[in-house]
Amino acid sequence: KFERRRFFMQESDMLPRHKKFHAFSHKGDFGRILLIGGRRGKAGAIILSARAALRTGSGLVHVWADDSAVIPLHNNCIEAMYLDGEKLVSMDDFDALGIGPGLGQVDVSELEGILKSFRKPLVLDADALNLLSENPQLWANLPENSILTPHLKEFERISGKAKNQMERLEKARSLASDNKVYLVLKGAFTCVSAPDGTQYFNSTGNKHMATAGSGDVLTGMLTAMLGQGYSPLDACLCAVFHHGLAGQVASKTKGRGTIASDIIESIPQTFLDLG
Ligand code: AMP
Ligand code: MG
Repeated sequence: KFERRRFFMQESDMLPRHKKFHAFSHKGDFGRILLIGGRRGKAGAIILSARAALRTGSGLVHVWADDSAVIPLHNNCIEAMYLDGEKLVSMDDFDALGIGPGLGQVDVSELEGILKSFRKPLVLDADALNLLSENPQLWANLPENSILTPHLKEFERISGKAKNQMERLEKARSLASDNKVYLVLKGAFTCVSAPDGTQYFNSTGNKHMATAGSGDVLTGMLTAMLGQGYSPLDACLCAVFHHGLAGQVASKTKGRGTIASDIIESIPQTFLDLG
């Protein structure tokens, strides 16, 4: 069915994909993004995504959460703007959307409504993926070229258990091409499956990134890059690669004590290093 196209991502693949911004850029050029999650006391996850998006260079970061997130958000990320759902006027105001970290068990019709009202590629992670696995009818509402970022457990909930690694990779490839999405199967050597069946394996990152909130950081980076005008493919490759590099930078001084916030603070260094 597929040509067997598999690539190992290298540093030299990054530079040509990096967006360049000119001297007269304003914050609108760097993207106005919306992150949805942090419900029912799970504010931390979406705050990590918001901070990661800002460190990836997002111009304007909005967080749509419930009231329990207002104080934690204002205390831990003063640069982000808090929205409550009632005040949300139109999804069209946003260049990119990331949904899932700390979303909890929301009603499926709410996610369906969001997917239907945002017609550009978006990022789905964590609890949004769990909802998708429990309600397969949602696939029909996913905008083409959206980005899904399951870790292994989340992936198995969506696609069932595989007998071995090879079968798992084929399942990932089919899921991406059948549904016309980018599937980012996270772990050591994260595998990005594109809708055309190509697979890209990440060469950065290390075991110290296996820590709470690490994936929420990636969601923020991906959404930030979509907001800056990266194509979904370039966003996947650059976000995954820089996320891994940031983990490497952080773990140089923090070792096994690396936490998600350290990864976030290391993101800018990875762009300075690669140019
Ligand atoms: P999550 O489970 O959603 O928090 O995502 C975990 C993040 O950490 C993903 O981006 C993984 O690729 C990364 N990660 C977890 N374990 C490892 C590992 N052993 N080596 C490299 N990256 C890892
Ligand atoms: Mg996660």
